[in-house]
Amino acid sequence: DAGHKTPLMVDGNSLVAMCLARAGVDKMFGVVGIPVTSLANRAVALGIRFIAFHNEQSAGYAASAYGYLTRRPGVLLTVSGPGCVHGLAGLSNATANAWPMVMISGSSEQSFTGRGDFQELDQLAAVKPFSKFSAKATDITKIPASVFSVIDWAVAGRPGGTYLDVPSDVLHQTVDKSEAERLITEALNSRNKDLIEKPRINYSEIQKAVELLRTAQRPLIVFGKGAAYARAENELTKLVESTGIPFLPTPMGKGLLPDTHELAATAARSLAIGKCDVALVVGARLNWLLHFGEPPKWSKDVKFILVDICKEEIKLRNPCLGIVGDAKDVVGMIHKEIKDDPFCLGRTHPWVEAIKNKTKENVAKMEVQLVKDVVPFNFMTPMRIIRDAILGVGSPAPIVVSEGANTMDIGRAVLVQTEPRTRLDAGTWGTMGVGLGYCIAASVASPDRLVVAVEGDSGFGFSAMEVETLVRYQLPVVVIVFNNGGVYGGDRRNPEEITGPYKDDPAPTSFVPGAAYHLLLEAFGGKGYLAGTPDELKSALVQAFTARKPTVINVTIDPYAGAESGRLQHKN
Ligand code: ADP
Repeated sequence: DAGHKTPLMVDGNSLVAMCLARAGVDKMFGVVGIPVTSLANRAVALGIRFIAFHNEQSAGYAASAYGYLTRRPGVLLTVSGPGCVHGLAGLSNATANAWPMVMISGSSEQSFTGRGDFQELDQLAAVKPFSKFSAKATDITKIPASVFSVIDWAVAGRPGGTYLDVPSDVLHQTVDKSEAERLITEALNSRNKDLIEKPRINYSEIQKAVELLRTAQRPLIVFGKGAAYARAENELTKLVESTGIPFLPTPMGKGLLPDTHELAATAARSLAIGKCDVALVVGARLNWLLHFGEPPKWSKDVKFILVDICKEEIKLRNPCLGIVGDAKDVVGMIHKEIKDDPFCLGRTHPWVEAIKNKTKENVAKMEVQLVKDVVPFNFMTPMRIIRDAILGVGSPAPIVVSEGANTMDIGRAVLVQTEPRTRLDAGTWGTMGVGLGYCIAASVASPDRLVVAVEGDSGFGFSAMEVETLVRYQLPVVVIVFNNGGVYGGDRRNPEEITGPYKDDPAPTSFVPGAAYHLLLEAFGGKGYLAGTPDELKSALVQAFTARKPTVINVTIDPYAGAESGRLQHKN
């Protein structure tokens, strides 16, 4: 207890906080309790903002998204045992998305290991499948080196989740202040510089890439959240605009170039990937989201040029050409190489025209659906109203958080991204329940931006109690819940198949119909709106976007609108 110590002594809790501050950490997310409460308090005293959550799962999702948005590891603090287990959701999500995050957990007393101590768990073993690096500070003198190594590993190469274990006895050990400073300096000096260094780019590969693009008939530039993380937007814009090559963002790559750009192939996605002969893929994995780069979605002869920070990723996909390097650097070099001997497809190039025509056709088809005011709401009508309200905000554009089956799928097509890193969604893992954590992270990372969540009632329900966190920190977050009364909406079972003693139970997919989610926020002093018509929704959005206060807009959706499993029905 600090009150009984001489002021010159530093305990483990303080030392962790000091090291985090020295490493440049300025925000932390977590849930306090034994044995880490004082760690959070010390961090705050050192100028770190600690955002306290109700559940480590949401706090972990927040830390992962914070890492993506700021390019500095998001830090999650948890208690031992169950706290650590809840935090695994965030840690695994960070690693799956290749986002930098550090989870720090207190753990039980080392001398009681194996004897059933309070919240005892072999936490290093538990985090292993979900982290790229982990360390345990078995003694207070090991704290500085451990803290700096988990931070450096989180951002090294392909970013991901790392873990630091601090046993409660270590958190209570003390060293004197000058010794603490000495340990910190020593650890800073012996930081592994190789970890932070970017890979050197092989120039001959840049030339090969340019040659492939130059001789292609139907080139395409695809970019993903790795390019967004690398802040490659200016380089990509220059490359696209100087060559006239159409581009296709992945869901979270949206906004690196505006969706409204004349070379955007988003609305002509099937044509673009089905017919391109050379695809420059930057910071995006050829995983399920890009149909593994295989037929029938892609042509079997397509030549891939993959740009990725991760050598193993390139080996795994075995492309025609792989360039290991930072997306911003590589795209910049490709553009520079082209500048010396420029080429441009031009507006009348058959490939560019085909993409533009298809885009026009598909956009027109969608607009027909969108302009209709359908009540009770389907997904399209409210989505159009929300799209227009978000566009009306202008710059800096709001960060859109999206999850749910139909809500996310339809939102991806309808909502317009005009600025980089303004979309956060279920991501590589298809993680549901990320919504409120992402909202809080986005708001903390970009205080000048409004944050708008567009999510299904099921996604919202995973972490609905975090609306209290929104109110407590007064974050400008507007959560729009598409309330169709359950997962995928109403009871879609064949009545003949519903038998057995529990046949009268609600369907596993259904929630209480007409749930008043907007009142949930009002319980904490936030603002709630119920919207079932276009006018109600428009008015709620105007008020919420002007007030910039924590708000939930509960949008009543026809329970039978949309499809079961959204766009992924084939996987059901
Ligand atoms: P998306 O979901 O948008 O398709 P992915 O998460 O699948 O994107 O892919 C992102 C890729 O970007 C990962 O393979 C990761 O290794 C890579 N990456 C991360 N940081 C960088 C960077 N600075 N430069 C290039 N590639 C990066």
